[in-house]
Amino acid sequence: MRAVFFEAAHSMTLREVPPPEPGPGEVRLTVTYCGICGSDLSVYKTGALAGPDVVLGHEISGVVEKDPEGRWEPGRRVVTFPARGCGGCLWCREGEPRYCIDPPHGSWGGFAERVVYPAVSLIPIPDELDDREAAIAEPFGVALRAVEMAVPRPSDLAYVCGLGPIGLFCVAGLVAAGCRVVGADPRPERRALGEDLGCEATFDPTVEDPFVTLLGFEPHGARVALECSGVPEALQQTIDACGYRGVVGIVGVPMAPVLLLRMFVREHRAFSLSGPSRRTMERALDLLVERPQIAKVVSGSVPLEDTGGAFERLVAGEGGVKVLVSPAR
Ligand SMILES: [Zn+2]
Ligand SMILES: [Zn+2]
Repeated sequence: MRAVFFEAAHSMTLREVPPPEPGPGEVRLTVTYCGICGSDLSVYKTGALAGPDVVLGHEISGVVEKDPEGRWEPGRRVVTFPARGCGGCLWCREGEPRYCIDPPHGSWGGFAERVVYPAVSLIPIPDELDDREAAIAEPFGVALRAVEMAVPRPSDLAYVCGLGPIGLFCVAGLVAAGCRVVGADPRPERRALGEDLGCEATFDPTVEDPFVTLLGFEPHGARVALECSGVPEALQQTIDACGYRGVVGIVGVPMAPVLLLRMFVREHRAFSLSGPSRRTMERALDLLVERPQIAKVVSGSVPLEDTGGAFERLVAGEGGVKVLVSPAR
């Protein structure tokens, strides 16, 4: 099979390799789509996790090809819950493999024609969705878990900073929860998508001060403020824009210090998260059936041999919003 190996910062190579064999409890899938995640772009830029045998990609939709233990019928369309655990530690037994103290090593990702996953990690795709829409279940599941952790009330004013894929999915989740949502992003095409997905208004946070702008919508300020860009100044602005007893979600990864004075004064709560739950991925699939316009976040797909090119364009700030790789020939 063909697979794209991440060898060093800014370097990916397509290689022909034998397909991985499913071990005990595992199933082999033919990958139909695998989304490029912001976290994949960070490792691509920095060279973290690079190696001779690393295949990235965790936003997978695929078809069951082979289940030696016969639980999944060949041809079944599925998405994959990304966290893998040992199955035996306290966290794994509590259904939270993302915190596993002894996670398995060396598993390959979805920028390949085939991939092996534990049978328990597969989630069936509803008949109403195509494989392309279903491939966003993982990042949409991350956003829905962020919304769940923020515990918004209907009609709360929510602020979403950064309208990339995760920010746009947060907008969709907050709108589905009944919130009023104001979004911010410097790029006009992303603000337009935010409005398509239900933002009451959007603005450019490098031009307007979010705190002042949000007061124009609600004199108490935002009750929920989710920072999804990972830009440290944006997290500072988001904390400063959140109202009294508001909830700040650190959804993007800020790689610089921020000041927490306003968080203290306004008695905020804050949370972060590192992935979806299985339940929020299932909810993502259901919401995509109910509101198909959410799939507009997918801006295009590329063949496997153009994976490196798509990464370069996204890192350069071109190339779209959510880009999927399609390994099928
Ligand atoms: Zn992801
Ligand atoms: Zn474990």
